[in-house]
Amino acid sequence: MSVPRVKSRTPYVEAPHPLEIAGCRALVGETVTLHGFLADIRRYPKVTFLSLRDRTGAIQIVCKRQDLLEEVHSLTRNSAIRVNGIIKAGRGEEIELEALGIAVLTVAEPCALREASARSPAMRFLTMREPREQLICAVRTTLLNVLRGTLLEQGYREIQTPKITAAGSESGAAVFNLSFFGEPACLVQSPQFYMQMAMAAGFGRVFEIGPVFRAEPSQTNRHAAEFSCLDVELSWISSHHDLMDVEESLLCGLLEELARLHGHDIERQFEIPVSRIDAPIPRISFEEALSIARNGSLALRTDRLSPQDEQIICKKLSQRTGSDFVFITDYPADDRPFYTMRDDGSRKASRSFDLLWRGVEITSGCQREHRFGNLATQIETAGIDEETRARYLAPFYLTMFRHGCPPHGGFGVGIDRFLFMLLGCSSIADVSFVFRGPEGLMP
Ligand code: ATP
Repeated sequence: MSVPRVKSRTPYVEAPHPLEIAGCRALVGETVTLHGFLADIRRYPKVTFLSLRDRTGAIQIVCKRQDLLEEVHSLTRNSAIRVNGIIKAGRGEEIELEALGIAVLTVAEPCALREASARSPAMRFLTMREPREQLICAVRTTLLNVLRGTLLEQGYREIQTPKITAAGSESGAAVFNLSFFGEPACLVQSPQFYMQMAMAAGFGRVFEIGPVFRAEPSQTNRHAAEFSCLDVELSWISSHHDLMDVEESLLCGLLEELARLHGHDIERQFEIPVSRIDAPIPRISFEEALSIARNGSLALRTDRLSPQDEQIICKKLSQRTGSDFVFITDYPADDRPFYTMRDDGSRKASRSFDLLWRGVEITSGCQREHRFGNLATQIETAGIDEETRARYLAPFYLTMFRHGCPPHGGFGVGIDRFLFMLLGCSSIADVSFVFRGPEGLMP
């Protein structure tokens, strides 16, 4: 199967509303009403300048009238206000608002944004008023809409799978256990088994954008305990290369749209250009990757790729090909979960891949084993505890493969991980609305 590299039609563009600051640029001479937070106040004897901020930007408010000067006298930064006035041309491209009336909607307690967030994570909402945070939210919105719009255009169906389940799907990874009406249960680590259920149900091509939960105690800059994931699953594939074709095409269109809609703002706020996929992403086997990381010296079969190896591989590949991305394929079968299809050859490799972006994994994917006999053997030999096999895998998972399951596979892209790499942030917590990590539950 060959998947064409599609450019996505823009399914969503965030349009500035005329009652928001960015929506007023073309309204010079008109009277408007704006709402926002007071970012700054500069008082002079005959005039006061206010800086009003909303989610779309900031505007200078000029208050000259005596009655207004009295009104703004007691105002504090961060207060919520409504201003009515005339839009005037300001310096350069700027506009300003000559105030005719001001209504104070809530007076804020005096407090500086940075100090507030340093004092308490519960004050995060306050730092989120800043342009950088607003941009992250706008970029996330575009990202989700382009992914969703592109997949829907390509005939995928969107599903929502349960988030409470009977057992973990990622063998070895820690789960958040809970009691479900007295039954042992946990929060899902991946929707994959349910996506596979959709394949067994003949849905053909499905995706889900939803939360997943990993009780990983490690505190790295790229792991969260709860994050959003795009999971894509499709049937009738020939190999994992079909899946990489789909992902490459999807990300190519997505990055184009992100560059077009937010590239300028991202460069200004984060000082990083939006990566592009202008040529096919290099695909190298796990063995080649190991050899690159070890400078050509013979690697042992038992060697693994460390995060440092992944950095080295991406750097070298980028120098050679100019690509920020690389697919590493055909991981050793023993290193991948039991559901991964093994190669029929003698290399003991699996039909699996990871996608790395500037040295960091953003995707794992594989062709799933759909043949009942092979899968049953793989479950037997995977070291999964007897209880999970008897209570969960045998009655639910394995049963799906007894009644004519199509060949299929899929991949998962961490949304927060993707944003973290797109914006070049120092921690995944920076791009999360509210970060969930081992540090605590506040807010
Ligand atoms: P990693 O090796 O980075 O821990 P993984 O191999 O456990 O990731 P998968 O289980 O394959 O990852 O999950 C699919 C994708 O979800 C990853 O490629 C990554 O983008 C994202 N992801 C996985 N774990 C986390 C996490 N704890 N926090 C944020 N994103 C994650």
